[in-house]
Amino acid sequence: MESKLQPQVRVRFAPSPTGHPHLGNIRTALFNWLFARHHGGKFILRIEDTDIARKVEGAVDVILDSLRWLGLDWDEGPYFQSQRLYYYHEISNSLLKDGYAYLCYCSPQRLEAMRQEQMKRKQPPKYDGHCRYLTQQGKTQLEASGIVPVVRFKMPLEGETTFHDVIRGQLTFQNSTLDDFILLKSDGYPTYHLANVVDDHLMAISHILRADEWLPSVPRHVLLYQSLNWEPPQFAHLPMILGPDRSKLSKRHGATTAIEYKEQGYLPEAMINFLALLGWSLDDRTELLSREELIKHFSLGRISKTAAIFDKRKLEWMNGVYLRRLSPEEFARQSAPFLDRDLPPKVKRPLDTDYVCRITPLLQERAKTLAEVPQLADFFFLDELPYDTSLLLSGGLDATQAIKIALQRLEVVKTWDAGSLEGILRPLATELKLTTGKFFGLLRVAITGRTAAPPLFQTMAVLGKERCLKRLSTALGKLATPTIINY
Ligand code: GLU
Repeated sequence: MESKLQPQVRVRFAPSPTGHPHLGNIRTALFNWLFARHHGGKFILRIEDTDIARKVEGAVDVILDSLRWLGLDWDEGPYFQSQRLYYYHEISNSLLKDGYAYLCYCSPQRLEAMRQEQMKRKQPPKYDGHCRYLTQQGKTQLEASGIVPVVRFKMPLEGETTFHDVIRGQLTFQNSTLDDFILLKSDGYPTYHLANVVDDHLMAISHILRADEWLPSVPRHVLLYQSLNWEPPQFAHLPMILGPDRSKLSKRHGATTAIEYKEQGYLPEAMINFLALLGWSLDDRTELLSREELIKHFSLGRISKTAAIFDKRKLEWMNGVYLRRLSPEEFARQSAPFLDRDLPPKVKRPLDTDYVCRITPLLQERAKTLAEVPQLADFFFLDELPYDTSLLLSGGLDATQAIKIALQRLEVVKTWDAGSLEGILRPLATELKLTTGKFFGLLRVAITGRTAAPPLFQTMAVLGKERCLKRLSTALGKLATPTIINY
């Protein structure tokens, strides 16, 4: 069963399927993956599914989907701890045999009463060691009673446990503050502590990179390694991720699960770049780094000790940069499923691919996410634009007159492209003694139903003559109908 620690870098991502992986989990996966790829090592995926009560249906699929979406490919696994119970039992038995563990028969009621008592006395909750000191006679009686015991680790009563963390440096814990934690539960499943240590050893993990919320577990693990005469891997605990207000990351700061970002139209490359900078940096300045550059430069030495701040605006900005870097064809290809998903139901499906390919280049400069594309583009697809007539009047010019003349001039246009349209409408503004800002602003409202839209002439060119003329006529119709303007 012993497997030797190999000199090769072997790291693991070991999520528990208790929910959809959040950004912190995926940042952990990414750092492990980058470290493995940088060193030509192995990235192992291990599902820690030993907490039956907290298991969430479908969570494993979402974990795998999140990793696949981001291109974090694994070299081994997924291993499932629930399928490895044999190993944990064997190790637990050997700890019992060697006197490092003992059977505990305490009932949940007794443990609860003990906890209450400790709370009353303002003591930290800690198992009182009742079963550690059972007499042989007591043990025999309890065994005969049919109670299924748990296995607890026999924590040294004094002394301290010291270990080195690559990021945090040397850390020391007093053994007396740690309790006789459970190794094997009465349902036959191991606890996180036992399964995690056994697997890290058996899978010859060289480095443990994980969130620093696990730091308090390390002294327990180190003592387990010592009892088993195993060499512990190197530890590197990653800094927390906080919101801009320095509170724990939550929904309030934006989506928290990684897969939601996929649904919201973030590109995996932007996400990788962004997550890599949550706690790691190349030089405190460089913001944009490709996957290859990250692999090349990633090092544990540049991971910070202090918490990383999650800034949604920075992610949006970065995603916009990556979106603009796509070729127009690729941007159209990636936008298509979002248009299909989010355009109003009244827009006929399937969408016309050629039309989509002509629309999306006009939006590539403006979209920060792919999910914004349908909102930015819906006026290209709708037959009726739901805008308020007051928008046509907001320029303070004779809108009816201006649109009427524009319509007359456009009706006779033969070549309907952006250049020709500009060649007609720009001089018309002068002729009408209107600023281009006001005149084009009015046409923009009539053509798109909004005041901010992609460049007017290109938009009109893509919409085509028929749609544009119809929209101008509709605007005239709206102007002819009195509206109530609320001031
Ligand atoms: N199963 C733990 C988790 O869900 C793994 C912690 C570790 O990496 O040791 O995060």
